[in-house]
Amino acid sequence: MEKTLYEKSRSGRKGYTLPVLDVEKEVFPESHVRQIELKLPEISENEIARHFTKLAHLNYSIEEGLYPLGSCTMKYNPKINEYTSALPGFTELHPCSEVRNAQGALQLMYELQELLKEITGLQGCTLQPAAGSHGEFTGINLIAAYHANDSKRKIILIPDSAHGTNPASSAIAGFSIVAVKSNDRGLVDIEDLKSKCNDEVAGFMLTNPNTLGLFETQIVEIEKLIHGCGGLMYMDGANMNALMGIVRPGDMGFDCVHLNLHKTFSTPHGGGGPGSGPVCVSEKLVEFLPVPRVIKTGETYDLSYDFPKSIGKVMAFYGNFGVMIRAYTYIKILGGEGLKKVSENAIINANYLLSRLKEYFDLPHDERCMHEFVLSGDRQKKFGVSTKDMAKRLLDYGYHAPTIYFPLIVHEALLVEPTETETLESLDEFADALIAIAKEAESNPDLVKDSPQKTPVKRLDDALAARNLDIRWSC
Ligand SMILES: *Cc1c(COP(=O)(O)O)cnc(C)c1O
Repeated sequence: MEKTLYEKSRSGRKGYTLPVLDVEKEVFPESHVRQIELKLPEISENEIARHFTKLAHLNYSIEEGLYPLGSCTMKYNPKINEYTSALPGFTELHPCSEVRNAQGALQLMYELQELLKEITGLQGCTLQPAAGSHGEFTGINLIAAYHANDSKRKIILIPDSAHGTNPASSAIAGFSIVAVKSNDRGLVDIEDLKSKCNDEVAGFMLTNPNTLGLFETQIVEIEKLIHGCGGLMYMDGANMNALMGIVRPGDMGFDCVHLNLHKTFSTPHGGGGPGSGPVCVSEKLVEFLPVPRVIKTGETYDLSYDFPKSIGKVMAFYGNFGVMIRAYTYIKILGGEGLKKVSENAIINANYLLSRLKEYFDLPHDERCMHEFVLSGDRQKKFGVSTKDMAKRLLDYGYHAPTIYFPLIVHEALLVEPTETETLESLDEFADALIAIAKEAESNPDLVKDSPQKTPVKRLDDALAARNLDIRWSC
C-alpha cells in the first residue's frame, strides 16, 4: 500500500536533525527546500527545565513582592480566577461555535455587561475592546457617531495631566486635541476649561480620580460646562479601583467610560497583555455600540448584528474572553460590599503610605489622595540623584519601581499605587526601603546613581532593546 506523506517523512527521521527528504522535493519546489540540515539545540529535558526555571526566577511579579506601579493597579490576583478561566467548557469552546453551543459563554458575557452597567451607573456596555486604550478609541468613535451630523465638532478637550493614550486615541479617531490646564491643586482649572468650551467641542476626556490620584471635586460644575456647550463627557476609568461602590461615573454625568478589566477587576497583566477594555455608555450612545451584541431573549442568549447605527466591529470575534471570565469571577466572589471594601482599602493603603513618605520627598499636592499619589524627586535632584536613579536603586531592595516621570506635569514624578491587597507589614517594609533610598541620595549619592548593583544586568538602553529585539535561543 502507498505510504502516507506522514509515514514517509517519519521513516526518514534520524536523531535530532531532519534530513532533506525526497518527499519534500516531490511536494515543494526545489528552490523552497532546505539545503542544509536543521540545527536544533541538543539539550536534555533536565537542562531545558533548569534553563526556564532560572529565567522565571529573574522575573518579578506581584507574587514576589509589592508592585507599586502607579495607574497600573498591580493587585494580587486570586487563584480562583485561574481555575474558572481554565475550565474546559470555556477553553475548548471554538470562537466559531454556533450560538446554541456557546450559551454558557454568552450568559457570562451578558451578565458581566449587566454587572459593569451597575458598577458604572450607565445604560449600555460593550466587552469588545482589548485594552483600556482600545476602549478609549471605541468610546471616542461612539462620540464621533453621536456628532455625525454636526461637522464642526472636531475637538476633544483633555487635561494636561492625562495619560498619553487619551490624546493618542482621540487623534487616531480623527479629532484635534486641546489641552486643559491643571490648577495648583492638581485639578482641572475651571477658568481654563470655560475659555475652551465652545460649539466645536465634541467631548471632554477626564480621568477621575485623575492621574495625580486626586478626585476631581468640581465634577458637577465640569459636567454642566461640557454638556452646556453640547459636548459629551468621557471618563478614562483606569482608576476605577478607587471608586467601586462609592461613586458611579453615570451619576457624575459621564456619557461614556472605559474600564480596564485587567487593572480594576484582576488578571495578571504587564509586558503587553492580556487586557480587556469594556466601554459603558449613557442612553445617548447606546445605539452606536459595536456589533455583534450579546442579547437575551427569554432564557436564550444570542449575538445580534441588528443595530443599524452601530459603529461596527472593533475586535476579532468577541473580545478577550479569558479576561472577562476572571473579571466575572472576581466581581461575583466579592459582591457589591466586597468591591466597595476593595476601593476603600485601596484608598486607605495609599494614604497610609503617603503619610509615611511625605516628609522624605517633595509633595507637589499636599492633599488626601485616592488609591495612588505622586511624589517628586526634586529634593534629591539637588544631590545629583534623579528619580530614575532612585527607581533603579529600589530594584536592589527587591522591589519593582513605581511609575516614574508620569504624570508629565510633575517634575521628577514618582507615581505610587500600593493597591488594596498589601498588608500593613508589606506597606511598612516598602516605605522603609524608599525612606532608606531618600537618605542614601543625600549621604551617598554615587551609590544611588550607580544602581542597580544586585540585578543580573545593570541599566539597559530601553529604546535600543525595544528597537532591536533579540529573543533568540543561545547556548
Ligand atoms: C492603563 C491606563 C490607560 C491605558 O490602558 P491600557 O489597558 O494599558 O491600554 C489609560 N489611562 C490610564 C489613566 C491608565 O492608567
